Amino acid sequence: MPHQLVFATNNRHKLDEVADKIGDKFKLLTLNDIGCTDDIEENGATFHANASIKSHHIFNKYRLDCFGDDSGLEIEALNGEPGVYSARYAGKHGNHAANIKKVLDNLQGIENRRARFITVISLIWNGEEHFFEGTVEGTIRNELSGSEGFGYDPIFQPEGYDVTFAEMTMEEKNRISHRAKAMEKLMAFLKEQ
Ligand code: IMP
Repeated sequence: MPHQLVFATNNRHKLDEVADKIGDKFKLLTLNDIGCTDDIEENGATFHANASIKSHHIFNKYRLDCFGDDSGLEIEALNGEPGVYSARYAGKHGNHAANIKKVLDNLQGIENRRARFITVISLIWNGEEHFFEGTVEGTIRNELSGSEGFGYDPIFQPEGYDVTFAEMTMEEKNRISHRAKAMEKLMAFLKEQ
């Protein structure tokens, strides 16, 4: 019998990425699969806190092994903004065009373009919490470029590349992304169990 593990998300894209790598030792369940329709409020001050809110919500209610993730963009010259507000930087949740515009406006005339994406995963395994982190360093472009991906991808150029995330194929991005790195650490842990 595969071990049941809940991924506290209904984001099909994220789920496919993990399901692809996790193998048949685990049966990955989504919030839909376990009948959880709760609106889990991500009001933590850090990525760790938000990832932890999701995993604890599921564990406390369903007593199942589970993990939750939280990601975002940190820009050095903006003191780490948009940070945990990445999805709603310009106000409305998920308005990527407005979020990008706000970042570019705030960085106008600023030379330091250093930024990084970060993902934090909180796993509750046998009642104990474990964190896994992945980051990718890069710079913020002056203008948008590319149409792949989502969020801030059109203005983020990863270190060592001369294209933005939005100019990469999904496979290329998934090899180096913050999310992929955090997921790899999670997979390595699970393989040991
Ligand atoms: P989530 O926690 O993975 O839902 O990410 C929160 C927000 O961070 C997203 O809505 C995006 O604005 C931003 N973000 C996270 N990961 C990425 C990425 O890989 N590319 C672009 N934006 C991202």
